[in-house]
Amino acid sequence: MTVMFPLSDLQATPALLKLDLYCRGMRIDDSCLIAEDGGRRVLRTRAGLGSGLEVILPGGLWTNVPVTESFAKSSPYTLHREQGRYWIKRDGETVLPVELSPRPGWYDKKTTGGKPMTRVGTLQGTYLAIYPAKVCDYWVKKPAKVNCKFCSVGLNLGVDDDTVKSVEEVMEVVHTARAESHITYVDFNTGHYEGDTYLDLLEPYITRIKKETGLLIGVQTPPHPDLSRYDRLREMGVNRVSFCFEIYDRELFREVCPGKHTQYGQDRYLDAIRYCASLADRGPKTEPWVTNGEIIAGLEPPESSIRAINWVTSVGAIPTVCVFRPLAGTDYANMPPPDPEPLVPVFARLYEACMERGLPIGCAPNIHVSLVMLPEECAGLTAKRYPWQQFKLSAMRRGIGWYLNRRFDKADHAAKPLA
Ligand code: SF4
Repeated sequence: MTVMFPLSDLQATPALLKLDLYCRGMRIDDSCLIAEDGGRRVLRTRAGLGSGLEVILPGGLWTNVPVTESFAKSSPYTLHREQGRYWIKRDGETVLPVELSPRPGWYDKKTTGGKPMTRVGTLQGTYLAIYPAKVCDYWVKKPAKVNCKFCSVGLNLGVDDDTVKSVEEVMEVVHTARAESHITYVDFNTGHYEGDTYLDLLEPYITRIKKETGLLIGVQTPPHPDLSRYDRLREMGVNRVSFCFEIYDRELFREVCPGKHTQYGQDRYLDAIRYCASLADRGPKTEPWVTNGEIIAGLEPPESSIRAINWVTSVGAIPTVCVFRPLAGTDYANMPPPDPEPLVPVFARLYEACMERGLPIGCAPNIHVSLVMLPEECAGLTAKRYPWQQFKLSAMRRGIGWYLNRRFDKADHAAKPLA
C-alpha cells in the first residue's frame, strides 16, 4: 500500500472511502457490539467476491467492508461506537459517521418446511440474492477443480446456504423479504452446470416471482450457447442479465478463470453481452432491461480494466466493476488486496463512459448494492460533468420509480389474504 488519500477527500467524497475500505478493510473496536445492535451478521456472500460487514456511508452508499480477511487486521480503519453512533476512524482520526445495515427480522424466521430463511436467500445491500442450485461444477471437476481463483462459492454452499431450494421455499422468502424489507429486486446467480442447464433451472422461479409480485429480476449465469434463450427471458419479464467475464486481458483471463476459459472462452461472454444489449428495444415495454458485463478491478492492470469498460459501454451494456478481495480459503487468499489509488481512474471512467453513452444508470427504485461501486456512485471521482444526461436520468428515475412502485404495491395488495 502506498499513498493514503487525504482525510478531507474521503470526507468530501464517500465513494473514495467506499473504494479505500474495499482495499484496506477495517478493524472493529471493542466499543461496537454489532450483532446485538441490529447489524447484519457477517455472511459469506453469493457472488464469490464478498464477505464482510454491511454498512451505509454518508450519501446512502451501501458497502460491504472486509473485516475477516487477514489484510483487514492491519487496516488503518477502525469502526467505533461513541455517543450512540458509529464512526469510521483512520489511525485514530475521525473520518465519517456510518450506519449499520439493519438486520432484517426475517433473518431469524424459518420457511414452512423448517429451513432458516437465510439459507434460501440473503440481502445484499437492499436486494434479495439467491444462489438457487448446487455448487458450480468447476468446484467439483475431476481430476482437478477448475474454479475461478478468486471465487469462494464452493466454500459457501451447504455452510451458510442450502444446495437445494424449491420454488415454494424461494417464494416464501421473496414474499417475506418484500413485506418486511420492501425489496424491489431479486437477483439469481448460478455457476456453470454441465449441459448448460442454468437457465432451465431458473425459469420456474422467474415465472412465479413475476406472476405473484411483479418485482424486478436479474439473472447472472454463464453465457448460454443458444442466444434466443435471452429473447425468451426478455419476454418472461427478466430485467437484467449479467455476464461475468471478470478479466479483459486474455492471458490473465485464461489464468484466473481456467474453467470459463476452457468451457466458453472469453468471446462467448462478449458475444452474449453484445447480443443481450441489442434486446433493449425489443420485448415488453413495461419491463426495464439492462445488460451487465462484470469485471474485477485489481486482478489486471487498470488500463485493461478501462479498456473493458470502454468495450462494454460501446455495445450498450453497463459494466459492473468489483474490487478484488482475497477471500479466506480461496486460491488467491494470500494475495495482497489492490492498491486503491490506481483504481480511482478505473471508477472515474466507469461513470464517464456510462454518461457519454447515455446508459440508464441508477434508474430502478430502492436498489443499493454493497458489493460493487455503482457507476452513479462514482460521479465524485471525476471532474467531468454531464448536466443534460443527468437531467434525462433524473426524469427517467422519477418515471420508472413511479410506475414500478405502483406495480409492486398493486401486487402486494393482491397477495394479502382477505381479512
Ligand atoms: S463460474 Fe467461477 S466465479 Fe462463478 S461460481 Fe463457478 S468458479 Fe465461482
